[in-house]
Amino acid sequence: MTRAYNFCAGPAALPLAVLERARDELTDYQGRGLSVMEMSHRSTEFVAIAEAAEQSLRRLLAIGDDHAVLFMQGGASTQFAAVPLNIGNGTGRAGYVDTGYWAGKAIKEARRFVDVDVLASSKDDAYTRVPEIAALPTGLDYVHITPNETIGGVEYHAFPDTGDVPLVGDASSTLLSRPLDVTRFGILYAGAQKNIGPAGLTVVIVRRDLIGQARETTPDMLNYATLAAADSMANTPPTYTWYLAGLVFDWLLEQGGLAAMEARNRAKAECLYTAIDASSFYASPVAPAARSWMNVPFTLADPGLDGAFLDGAEARGLLNLKGHRSVGGMRASLYNAVPQAAVDALIDYMGEFEREHG
Ligand SMILES: *Cc1c(COP(=O)(O)O)cnc(C)c1O
Repeated sequence: MTRAYNFCAGPAALPLAVLERARDELTDYQGRGLSVMEMSHRSTEFVAIAEAAEQSLRRLLAIGDDHAVLFMQGGASTQFAAVPLNIGNGTGRAGYVDTGYWAGKAIKEARRFVDVDVLASSKDDAYTRVPEIAALPTGLDYVHITPNETIGGVEYHAFPDTGDVPLVGDASSTLLSRPLDVTRFGILYAGAQKNIGPAGLTVVIVRRDLIGQARETTPDMLNYATLAAADSMANTPPTYTWYLAGLVFDWLLEQGGLAAMEARNRAKAECLYTAIDASSFYASPVAPAARSWMNVPFTLADPGLDGAFLDGAEARGLLNLKGHRSVGGMRASLYNAVPQAAVDALIDYMGEFEREHG
């Protein structure tokens, strides 16, 4: 069997050990005679799987009792609406930091429900850095940031201090890539398909005192109170994805937890940025202080060579390096399941391609 190196931004690479375990348990979960896919979500077996996954996630991120963990559906994009519906009901004003594509989507959706105050934007710099919030206005229900912009490759390496105003983070493409102080956040949410598991599950970590303030018209399935009261089983949850996420969490714990992942992810990113910076053929558009460890966009000196670069990469089993249609160029996503060997193979190929075409 050969496995390609998959640099996809999402759905992304999963650890081989997790896939193998899922394969081994696919048709007969631990001698029960059925697949996890076929189990009632109310069964003792599945409830144990669900609870164990939550406990493993709590251990990984050191999530304390002050925060609930919800396993929701609808992806991160559904949280763009759920957040204002649940906690945008005080003044009805919320602050957003505009760091690029995903922040823009969050802002657009939030505007349906709250008055959005764009506190800072890096639009004028083509979203190549993290903008500073000059001064926090009073009377905001919350402040929303995008800790890692998956398309632009811009990452916060320190979070803004919002005082008593709850900080909300769309951590879809950075959660679990390194330790993160959950107590800094009122809400953290992430679509699973980057660092957590397959698509179909959304992890929402929410401070308990923010639960129960949803506006009257909030759909039940978007109301954190409904989900929290039902242990995320107010309706049928995505059971198989939840189970796979649990396998990923346990794999991460076996690897040494998030401190170990931080060391690996930092090393992977540094290798690639160093190779890009050392070359006059490749370039990173992102300000060095804001460069993402998870998503590394880069350009070729001649965009006319993009197609040849991608064809050659694919022939070597280096997949999904095409940049997002909104920015072009290349993008290598280096999530937890992408090993150092993949980065080394990419750098080797980049060198070869440059010698041939540079
Ligand atoms: C992938 C991604 C999204 C969209 O997630 P869906 O689960 O497809 O809705 C939103 N925000 C960020 C930062 C992402 O990386």
